[in-house]
Amino acid sequence: MLKGKTALVTGSTSGIGLGMAEALAREGANIVLNGFGDVEGPKAKVQALGVKVAYHGADMSKPGEIEDMMKYAAAQFGRVDILVNNAGIQHVAPVEDFPPEKWDAIIAINLSSAFHASRLALPAMKAANWGRIINIASVHGLVASAEKSAYVTAKHGLVGLTKVIALENATTGVTCNAICPGWVLTPLVQKQVDARAAANGTSNEEAKRQLLAEKEPSLQFTTPEELGQLAVFFCSPAANNVRGVAWNMDGGWAAQ
Ligand code: NAD
Repeated sequence: MLKGKTALVTGSTSGIGLGMAEALAREGANIVLNGFGDVEGPKAKVQALGVKVAYHGADMSKPGEIEDMMKYAAAQFGRVDILVNNAGIQHVAPVEDFPPEKWDAIIAINLSSAFHASRLALPAMKAANWGRIINIASVHGLVASAEKSAYVTAKHGLVGLTKVIALENATTGVTCNAICPGWVLTPLVQKQVDARAAANGTSNEEAKRQLLAEKEPSLQFTTPEELGQLAVFFCSPAANNVRGVAWNMDGGWAAQ
């Protein structure tokens, strides 16, 4: 379905971003990966799906590096047809103890980076009259949890940005939507599981059970593969008129 298209997925060396990249590659899209840590492993996984894969190591907190990445993607593949704004970090602390530098980093990586990548991707999408911007927000773009001030603020902002981009392009073939996952067992969440296990003196399995039981009625983690399939749907012709939604895949978290 996406043969000949190019998808750039930020923060795709791990977790949900890698799941997105694999799902879009399975549909034939060439992929630009981004993110820190091991690059060769994720690159080989996506290449094995038979598409072309490029990588740019832009730090998504730095607008100048985002510009370099977008230029690099255009030079490699002509243009970016599908932009998945996924890179994100977390820090957990009450507001009065929240380190200001962590606040700044979360707002930059989880929110401002999506503005910068989108503003740079939109002209070519509009010229082609086809484009998909998919923002990986969170159930925390819809509801809040204690001790996640910067994350909740960034994700609510990302849902707002999604709606504005959708409206500004509503008469074109460019759509913008957000995906709002509940708990997904990636390294980002494993850190929170580890912290809970250490604080309560419980096993990892018990900490996972408690984490789910607090928020997620299904008592199940959503998987990167399931989220990838929602992104594929947003890229399909059936989703041509899906604009500005914040679609939660959260085991019932936000329904409560
Ligand atoms: P993860 O830690 O597995 O992956 C994060 C990715 O972002 C990695 O590839 C990392 O290298 C990259 N990254 C981090 N800082 C970066 C920076 N400055 N520049 C470029 N890349 C950077 O986390 P994940 O759980 O897969 O999270 C991906 C997205 O999904 C995040 O936006 C997160 O907020 C969101 N999300 C996650 C969950 C969950 O339960 N895991 C739930 C809702 C939303």
